[in-house]
Amino acid sequence: MNREIYDEDHEAFRASVREFLERSVIPDVEAYAEKKGIPREFWLEAGKQGFLGLEIPEEYGGAGAGDYRFNAVMGEELSKVNAALGSCWGIHADITAPYLVQLGTEEQKQRWLPGVAAGEILLAIGMTEPSGGSDLAALKTTAVRDGDEWVINGSKTFITNGYSADLVITAVRTSPEKKARGITLFAIPATAEGFSRGRKLDKVGQDESDTAELFFENVRLGDDHVVGEVDGGFIHMMQKLPQERLGCAISNIAHAQQILVETLQYTKDRKAFGQSIGQFQHSKFLLAELFTKIEVSQAFLDQCVVAHGKGELTPVDAAKAKWWTSEIQNDVLDHCVQLHGGYGFMNEYRVARAWRDARVSKIWAGSNEIMKELIGRDLGL
Ligand SMILES: Cc1cc2nc3c(=O)[nH]c(=O)nc-3n(C[C@H](O)[C@H](O)[C@H](O)COP(=O)(O)OP(=O)(O)OC[C@H]3O[C@@H](n4cnc5c(N)ncnc54)[C@H](O)[C@@H]3O)c2cc1C
Repeated sequence: MNREIYDEDHEAFRASVREFLERSVIPDVEAYAEKKGIPREFWLEAGKQGFLGLEIPEEYGGAGAGDYRFNAVMGEELSKVNAALGSCWGIHADITAPYLVQLGTEEQKQRWLPGVAAGEILLAIGMTEPSGGSDLAALKTTAVRDGDEWVINGSKTFITNGYSADLVITAVRTSPEKKARGITLFAIPATAEGFSRGRKLDKVGQDESDTAELFFENVRLGDDHVVGEVDGGFIHMMQKLPQERLGCAISNIAHAQQILVETLQYTKDRKAFGQSIGQFQHSKFLLAELFTKIEVSQAFLDQCVVAHGKGELTPVDAAKAKWWTSEIQNDVLDHCVQLHGGYGFMNEYRVARAWRDARVSKIWAGSNEIMKELIGRDLGL
């Protein structure tokens, strides 16, 4: 089915993203997985091409695209190469940068945004703690006022870009008695005294991304590192989570769709019992089902992208998009592995890695159980 949400400007942008990926990324992407991280050269080159500042106004060095469909195109193309590229770019440019753009003071924007757009300041977002991620309101990292400064103690875990980030937007408890209404966002530079990182976490998939635990031991910061309202952090995060979930959904479908197309070709090329394996009625029907699932999901997702562009995407629709697409992605990729037979279980095959990479999409950015909780509440339950 033709998708109608993109016009020729978006397609021209897509062509430039592809050109960048083919020239500067795909030839080296195996090394990203071996080194368990995306090198700084990727960020600097992406910055030069204007791919990191889609959310950042021109006066701060960004492209100021003002049209979420460009973010969607970027997320799609990166995720087709591999899921980790999509998620790491998403954390930097699509999820964390908007906190600074929309909540930052003029001085903060001038201080950080040009570096963010250029790839010189890599961003991460620290919400999850070792004691829990789903119950965000119960987070334990604290900031206590001491004269003109805040003193931050605690830790975060599973932080994407955490090992290499230069600036971490971190959710911290500032009013212990106020639970959700006692959380503040701090922009914590990796150079701050008392900030440290654990090792790169050893994940089941998405080898190309660095994911780390972060520690804060008497990190002292002034008010100029508070992002948004003191004690307003929970509301700020709730306002930003729909875009994060939409970005995840875009990546989920693009990733699965790409591997499905590659799998279709494999089933045409691979022979058994004197015919292509795709021609067995079971395979043919299965592939028919999988392509249908992707296209039907894409139609809902595209409506979400349009709604988000108009400022009308509800948190509930974002939750529906996130849980549904991650289930479809995992279902499709599991079948793609099966269609590859034994090769589907070999790490040297893209399908095997894609299958591993996909599993986390049901867990992060709010687990699918939490998504269904939000949808259920909206049903009045
Ligand atoms: C690779 C990776 C990258 C990540 N990147 C980031 C990042 O950049 N920044 C960040 O802040 N976090 C990040 N996360 C953390 C992620 O968002 C959390 O793992 C997720 O929110 C779940 O939190 P948890 O792991 O503490 O699980 P828990 O909250 O302990 O949940 C465990 C299980 O209980 C279920 N559960 C919990 N509460 C309920 C409920 N009310 N009803 C029904 N079921 C429930 C959950 O769905 C889950 O199945 C990342 C995680 C991974 C694995």
